[in-house]
Amino acid sequence: MRPVHDRVSLNLQVRGLRPSATVSINERSNAMLAAGEQVFKLGLGESPFPVPPSVVAALRAHAARKEYMPVRGLPALRDAVAAYHRRRIGGDRAYCGDDVLVGPGSKELMFITQLAFYGDLVLPAPAWVSYSPQARIIGRQVVWAPTRAEDGWRLAPAELDALCRRDPGRPRLLILNYPSNPTGCTYSVEALAEIAAVARRHGVLVISDEIYGELHHDGAHASIAAAYPEGTIISSGLSKWCGAGGWRLGTFLFPRELSWLRDAMTAVASETYTSTSAPIQCAAVTAFECGPQLEDYLVRSRAILRALGRWCRARLVAGGLDCAAPEGGFYLFPDLTPAAERLRARGIVGGEALCERLLADTGVAILPGGEFGRPAGELTARLAYVDFDGEAALAAHAAGVALDEAGLWRIAPRVLAAIERLVDYAR
Ligand code: PLP
Repeated sequence: MRPVHDRVSLNLQVRGLRPSATVSINERSNAMLAAGEQVFKLGLGESPFPVPPSVVAALRAHAARKEYMPVRGLPALRDAVAAYHRRRIGGDRAYCGDDVLVGPGSKELMFITQLAFYGDLVLPAPAWVSYSPQARIIGRQVVWAPTRAEDGWRLAPAELDALCRRDPGRPRLLILNYPSNPTGCTYSVEALAEIAAVARRHGVLVISDEIYGELHHDGAHASIAAAYPEGTIISSGLSKWCGAGGWRLGTFLFPRELSWLRDAMTAVASETYTSTSAPIQCAAVTAFECGPQLEDYLVRSRAILRALGRWCRARLVAGGLDCAAPEGGFYLFPDLTPAAERLRARGIVGGEALCERLLADTGVAILPGGEFGRPAGELTARLAYVDFDGEAALAAHAAGVALDEAGLWRIAPRVLAAIERLVDYAR
């Protein structure tokens, strides 16, 4: 008889699985900080901004709510989420509360989609860190679609088409995330319509991960659901645009045509997490209703992120590195290949070695492109320009501090210093 602690009894799907790269870098950065070292935390993509006061007040008002909620979510919240998306998408789709599934984070909803849907997972490379490990845990095949730096790492419709033609009958799930983590790039309405046409032709199910939609730097986010409503699930939540990652609330909006999938996922949810925290759901109603206070918060958040992202990118490019222009969210995906020879001379080959050495030598924490589906030998990396006090930044902006270079040094000195260090390191 094998002893119970024998590792052999670990499920094959999770054997060798490491904790998520973003969570690990955060824990490592925190340990270094605790040891008194200077760390620039550009590793974990956490919103720097506080939860808007009106949403905090709503949470406070509902703190005593203690009952289990319906598996699919609080009806008032589902209605608010459907109305929110109706306003954002436009068109004539009459989404209603029945089309919404609320979960403890959109990450969990993605996981149960992958569990409930049978088919390959298609991801543009690079893509967010957790999609692929989730597929691996469940035993789904991941098919990476190549992208090009010159295209802002966006999925080209022709690549999706080519991939689907290789085995036309196969069920597929495409997760399209925009504005993108890790690149900060997004898609135009025209580009989305082209991808939609290919997806429709091949019957590809799309999860449109729009968790950064409200953080489009110009407030001009558009959804692929407008062009491909019948095959698109829209993913959103409180984590990024509402600064409430730790509250753990995500939402999926389904078209009526995919109610079979929504129902299957609801059944899985009922047997696993049961329902999402009651006070959080009550507070989320206020967030999705998007009153004037929240609009003001979003306008300021976008302005700060826009200025900061542009400054960082301009500095990286001026330092001789490649980096696509950011359009939304708070990420950049620089490529240090132009510095490859100098780095090699210092024994640094590949993204992982780069990020390890950069953290050790300069205290700047970023993540290698390999964690996002790029080749391990590539010198791409993701940086999250979030190491600043978002509450103070919002107050400074409201008080009229300009978002020029001098203003940014006041608002986000650690981010600017980190970029300077990175550029110096690649010299
Ligand atoms: N999708 C993307 C692209 C993300 O960056 C994240 C969080 O970092 C998530 C989904 C998960 O968000 P949630 O907090 O709703 O689980």
